[in-house]
Amino acid sequence: MEFEPVIGLEVHAQLKTETKIFCSCTTTFGNAPNANTCPVCTGMPGVLPVLNKKAVTFAIRAALATHCTIAEESRFDRKNYFYPDLPKGYQISQYAAPIAEHGHLDIATDRTGEKTIGITRIHMEEDAGKLIHDPARGKSLVDLNRTGVPLIEIVSEPDIRTPAEAGAYLRKLHAILKYIDVCDGNMEEGSFRCDANISLRPAGQQAFGTRTELKNLNSFRHVENAIQYEIERQTHVLEQGDAVIQETRLWDPAKNKTMSMRGKEQAHDYRYFPDPDLVPLIVDQHWIQQVADQMPELPEAKKARFISRYQLSDYDAGILTADIHLADFFEAAVADLSNVKQAANWITTTLLGLLNARGLDITRSPVSANDFAALMGLLESQKITAAVAKTVFEEMAQTGADPGTIVQQKGLEQVSDSLALQTLVDAVLVENPDEVAAFRSGKTKLFSFFMGQIMKKTRGKADPKTLTPILQSRLHQEK
Ligand code: ADP
Ligand code: MG
Ligand code: ZN
Repeated sequence: MEFEPVIGLEVHAQLKTETKIFCSCTTTFGNAPNANTCPVCTGMPGVLPVLNKKAVTFAIRAALATHCTIAEESRFDRKNYFYPDLPKGYQISQYAAPIAEHGHLDIATDRTGEKTIGITRIHMEEDAGKLIHDPARGKSLVDLNRTGVPLIEIVSEPDIRTPAEAGAYLRKLHAILKYIDVCDGNMEEGSFRCDANISLRPAGQQAFGTRTELKNLNSFRHVENAIQYEIERQTHVLEQGDAVIQETRLWDPAKNKTMSMRGKEQAHDYRYFPDPDLVPLIVDQHWIQQVADQMPELPEAKKARFISRYQLSDYDAGILTADIHLADFFEAAVADLSNVKQAANWITTTLLGLLNARGLDITRSPVSANDFAALMGLLESQKITAAVAKTVFEEMAQTGADPGTIVQQKGLEQVSDSLALQTLVDAVLVENPDEVAAFRSGKTKLFSFFMGQIMKKTRGKADPKTLTPILQSRLHQEK
């Protein structure tokens, strides 16, 4: 029997506010444990939460960017449970009345093409603290710096069918949240994390099967691999005639498998009820309009503009707009260039190749947009050859020096002086009499051999456009 996977994703994104959602403690990452705390976020008796307006503005922005309907009135509930990282004994979260619902994201995958994934809801909530287990000393430590940091949870409809679609949805959502500047997207620090719900159903059947939930996946690869594993595991279970158990599972990237964390029998009853310390949240049209007016250009619009304004291919425009910082780098670099296509090629191949190799993102690029533009300028004005530009680029990446200085110090200016090139050509012909004879008796493929010899002599500085006709005529000249 054929089974069809059904996948729904829940994403927790940390909002980039300076202070927490219900108190004025800083959200700075990496401070000493419990340095970012106060009586409110440590759950002392008698304190009152005050909602951070910026967090709401960010949630509205995320809702608009994902085509959600924003609720005029939403509410904060208490989600009650005991755990040492939750000093109040409850988490404040929007449950019954979230700020936004009924959105969608359009994704594209190689195999399935364009597709729309529904977004069920976006709600606001506070993060819990962090437990650090130290089994060697038989101790667990608690750090409440993260307690009360604002999150939005973005819940997708179960519209996703493959690991690749899940990856495409997450990458798109991640890019959008960075574009609208509400989340730094740092997955290693947990600013963007995903729970994946997966079930199988017989192909053609409408009703969903029993699902499992994979918790806290913190990289795109992990999400794709974990879902793939889970599809195979559930297929195996069903093929054996057994039933999938509804449970929460954890992905172990080292072992490349999921393991059961807790079953449904231990499912919590959180006893949600409206938080009596917080009034309902009212978001009027005026506020929504204000946020809408300040929305930056989103990935799809930017891609379309790159294609029409810079005549880029769909593919190049897609790469360059996948990350807002890369798009900014590109636009800053080409501002004063005439050969935009050449610069785009260099960015998508040479620059991204370098960043990939070093595991850096564009914001940490060792080559600045300015210096990169200067290098492209030297190439455009034919001060250097393409071969030399590669060497200069590598030097820039190594030392951070600007291209003008490198070219000058190393004497890498292009040689396009005809007399100088003629002298070089003559020298190479004299040095290689056998090849010259072979060429003249018909082995014209040897042309590139002579080009290579001259490039070697000039360390790639000979201007191929001037050199080619000179070499042609000298080779065809009878002695
Ligand atoms: P919970 O709050 O218990 O996690 P929700 O109803 O909010 O449950 O669903 C969470 C996620 O699970 C959503 O993204 C939803 O699309 C997805 N989901 C629900 N049912 C299924 C199913 N049978 N198979 C796969 N995903 C599912
Ligand atoms: Mg869930
Ligand atoms: Zn605080």
